[in-house]
Amino acid sequence: MYGKFQQYLQDELKAIEEAGLYKHERNICSPQGAEIILEDGSKALNFCANNYLGLSNNPRLIAAAKKAMDDRGYGMSSVRFICGAQDLHRELEKAVAKYFHTDDAILYAACFDANGGVFEPLLTAEDAIISDALNHASIIDGVRLCKAVRYRYANANMEELENCLKEAQAQRFRIIVTDGVFSMDGNVAPMDRICELAEKYDALVMVDESHSAGVVGPTGRGVAEQFNLYGRIDIHTGTLGKSFGGAVGGFTTGRQEIIDMLRQRSRPYLFSNSLPPMICGAGIELFKMLEESNDLHDKQQENVRYFREKMLAAGFDCKPTQSAILAVMLYDAPLSQKFAARMAEEGIFVTGFYYPVVPKGQARIRVQISAAHEKEHLDKAIAAFIKVGRELGVLK
Ligand SMILES: *Cc1c(COP(=O)(O)O)cnc(C)c1O
Repeated sequence: MYGKFQQYLQDELKAIEEAGLYKHERNICSPQGAEIILEDGSKALNFCANNYLGLSNNPRLIAAAKKAMDDRGYGMSSVRFICGAQDLHRELEKAVAKYFHTDDAILYAACFDANGGVFEPLLTAEDAIISDALNHASIIDGVRLCKAVRYRYANANMEELENCLKEAQAQRFRIIVTDGVFSMDGNVAPMDRICELAEKYDALVMVDESHSAGVVGPTGRGVAEQFNLYGRIDIHTGTLGKSFGGAVGGFTTGRQEIIDMLRQRSRPYLFSNSLPPMICGAGIELFKMLEESNDLHDKQQENVRYFREKMLAAGFDCKPTQSAILAVMLYDAPLSQKFAARMAEEGIFVTGFYYPVVPKGQARIRVQISAAHEKEHLDKAIAAFIKVGRELGVLK
């Protein structure tokens, strides 16, 4: 049997390769950070990780992870409700809820699972989910697993959202769901307008804080802090894999009954292994650190401001940003790939994106700026951008 299937896979893989869409992986042989070491021993500056607060290799988190492993072992070998819950899991859930000013939280193996398991337990075919067109793949998959009626509005388009809300009055309950920060442009969802419309049209509000947590808002507590919406957002989902240490893990946090119901009925929670003690121990330490000081958030924000200003002064076309993501517009797809490849040769890792990941004619380089970057890293990256920009005719 495999013969025919093998031929089919080989043809498909070749087609992916020929379309220039094949994803190749680079192996890093050092911890994740601003400076990384590659297999051939060469060094590079990393501007394409989600390591926004620079915590991926933080000594305090490593020590906390080790201590939790020494105290509570390596793994749980169980799901939470059978015999996979430790005091550390509850402590971390309480820390998440405190950080976001919500009632309670529930942990998942990843935010992908949090989003995959949030709609189906709460909504039925009588209800409506109204989703931003640029929402993350995990939200799209979560919506697919639920029988609710689906509505979609163009990215951050409040007129279209209002039209969806009017139509969705036909359903019993409505929920608006959006990413907090959209990962291609770095723009923040207009949460103030979304909450106003939700109240006008009697809808719940859910936001995925994966790219906004730790970054957006005066102290990095996400979109509710940014727009002063505490108490008006019903559900937040998020990841421990970006700003919050970068290891693994996800969560849903929000109103008590919602979290209670997820604990009863959310399939990725019920039927998937508990987070290991080391992740919980490090997570608890992480929220302590963020409670103690905003220095990492402030440095990250200052780094973005500095980088964007210098890039604009050099003549690059950068989108406005309210996050750690900076889109340097090139518009041309092959140029975006060539540009990213030349930057890598200069020892700077950035990502070139083009259709279908971004709209046609909107190809770009995405730069992700971290609190781990020092001024010299930023200056080196900017110098490489200018060098490659001149070479490829982007800058005059
Ligand atoms: C990264 C990301 C996720 C997935 O998070 P994991 O914890 O890695 O599964 C979900 N939603 C959004 C918006 C993301 O950016």
